[in-house]
Amino acid sequence: MMKLDQFQRYPLTFGQTPIEYLPRLSAELGGKVQIYAKREDCNSGMASGGNKLRKLEYIVPDILESGADTLVSIGGVQSNHTRMVAATAAKLGLKCVVVQEKWVPHYDAVYDRVGNILMTRLMGAESRIVEDGFDIGIRQSWENAIQSVKDAGGKPYAIPAGASVHKYGGLGYVAFAEEVKEQEKQLGFEFDYIIVCVVTGSTQAGMIVGFAAQERAHQVIGIDASATPQQTREQVRKIVDNTADLVELGRKVRDDEIIILEDYAYPAYGVPSEETNAAIRLAARTEAMMTDPVYEGKSMQALIDLTQKGFFKEGSKVLYVHLGGAPALNGYSYYYRNG
Ligand SMILES: *Cc1c(COP(=O)(O)O)cnc(C)c1O
Repeated sequence: MMKLDQFQRYPLTFGQTPIEYLPRLSAELGGKVQIYAKREDCNSGMASGGNKLRKLEYIVPDILESGADTLVSIGGVQSNHTRMVAATAAKLGLKCVVVQEKWVPHYDAVYDRVGNILMTRLMGAESRIVEDGFDIGIRQSWENAIQSVKDAGGKPYAIPAGASVHKYGGLGYVAFAEEVKEQEKQLGFEFDYIIVCVVTGSTQAGMIVGFAAQERAHQVIGIDASATPQQTREQVRKIVDNTADLVELGRKVRDDEIIILEDYAYPAYGVPSEETNAAIRLAARTEAMMTDPVYEGKSMQALIDLTQKGFFKEGSKVLYVHLGGAPALNGYSYYYRNG
């Protein structure tokens, strides 16, 4: 039995997220599998919520204990993560500095004014735009920001991109696996596959550890949206190992329990393909479910393609984990000007 309870959790979310059946999308894709969504995008009243809050819930106790007065983090210009760090800082009454890099080769006139970055600024965070390109690793610009807070006499608490390589970054989604198990009991069935978008890695890594405790980690199908899948895979592996140790899983997670599909991230991180846009439209038109061009649109594209290709055996129940991210749609208004 895993030991998750030894870690404190500071509530930022409403608690259990709903699992919703998607009948019109299931029918549209041939009706041979039943598709459900776990609505992590509806998990909180804090600035539109999303997956980063589940991770931050396990990091906040460490923040409070550190006595820090400023949260420092990093992401792209339309980062959901920096929005959630800004929200957490506001809730805790702390200052916040976020570095926002040019991770996405996308040019929309208001890309750095709307959606995530708008909310980040509204919540009082200082957003520093930096010209560097995409990389999920530790960045010089982030280290510089941490140093600048110290130089100004502040006490920074550093949160890496996606809160992923933070020592507690994987815990939130270990708890997710236990939550799904409980909900399955209420539903009276178990899911055969779980589809989740992966970029910085701790969402899927946490799930893998949580579901490994139920001997079903291989059912978690990660959909890479980074377009640097080797780096993402290595980071997932590292977080899986670290998190498994923390919660005392009691065994090593095998490579064949870590499944990441690389076929949907093209043409680049943050840039939707025509197929991504078609997936975003289909989810919107069948279920009024909003997915974004950076993350969930790509995992939705994968869900659609895998269903149509017969990847899921007939009669399967598939759980699409919706991690949030819809605010970024505002930065892509030209793509969707006609719907
Ligand atoms: C951050 C994020 C992801 C990817 O999660 P990781 O833990 O970074 O792999 C997917 N979808 C949305 C909406 C996100 O904000």
